[in-house]
Amino acid sequence: MIDSTFGGLVAVVTGGSSGIGLGTARMMIAGGATVISLDVDPDVDPPVIGIRCDVSDAASVSAAISEVGERFGHIDIVVNNAGIGAAGAVDDNDEAEWVRVFDVNVVGMKRVTSAALPFLRNSDHAAVVNTGSIAGWAGLPQRALYSATKGAVHALTLAMAADYAREGIRVNAVAPGTADTPWVGRLLDQADDPIAEREALNARQPIGRLVSSNEVAAAICYLASPASASTTGTILGVDGGMLGLRTRPPQTAPLR
Ligand code: NAD
Repeated sequence: MIDSTFGGLVAVVTGGSSGIGLGTARMMIAGGATVISLDVDPDVDPPVIGIRCDVSDAASVSAAISEVGERFGHIDIVVNNAGIGAAGAVDDNDEAEWVRVFDVNVVGMKRVTSAALPFLRNSDHAAVVNTGSIAGWAGLPQRALYSATKGAVHALTLAMAADYAREGIRVNAVAPGTADTPWVGRLLDQADDPIAEREALNARQPIGRLVSSNEVAAAICYLASPASASTTGTILGVDGGMLGLRTRPPQTAPLR
């Protein structure tokens, strides 16, 4: 990424205080952006600016976007990245949990984008990037609710891209594979054998390791940057080959 890629641009990154969001915020700042993390945990090291925001609360989103507008004058980039997980098959989570996870992972994107739209319409470099997931594409065990939200994120990304293309607002998404973030660290900590569980996750990846948060951040930065001005309605996999590749175990030779 060229250092001045984001020069003069203001970006809001939801969930920008940890993992993929924090990596994205830091990378955009390195490229010259002012970046505000809208997060339920706004405690983030400068130069990332933290503003408390719960994407599942319309009043909180509205207040946070207004504050960004007042303090920084414009918003050019929205990264809808805040998300929460849910484990289980379709009958394992009750309806209240379904509503709660959709409220954060999907309706949260609607709230933040809607609040930021007046600013995006005034930008010459308006871009929205949503964080989807391999789980929105591939059937993974014990992820029914989470996968449903990420499939919705992918569909929402395409619909939004169609709605705003003529207004010059680009909308794209990334679909990360299992990424080495504090989120996955927490999941591994809960496993009976965290080391074996990490090895199983590594083995599921054709590249043999988890995706790094900076690799996802780099993809988000590309899609958010003026360098990708003709790219809209794209869902960019950053999944170590997990969706499209069928590799063989390392010890076996392919048939010739
Ligand atoms: P993370 O837990 O490290 O960071 C998530 C951030 O979102 C946290 O700072 C958290 O405080 C914030 N957040 C949670 N709920 C919020 C809310 N209601 N309002 C505002 N902020 C809120 O997680 P991560 O792994 O960096 O995940 C970021 C995104 O990437 C999520 O959308 C997740 O679904 C997606 N994703 C992650 C992986 C992975 O393997 N880590 C894979 C695919 C997709």
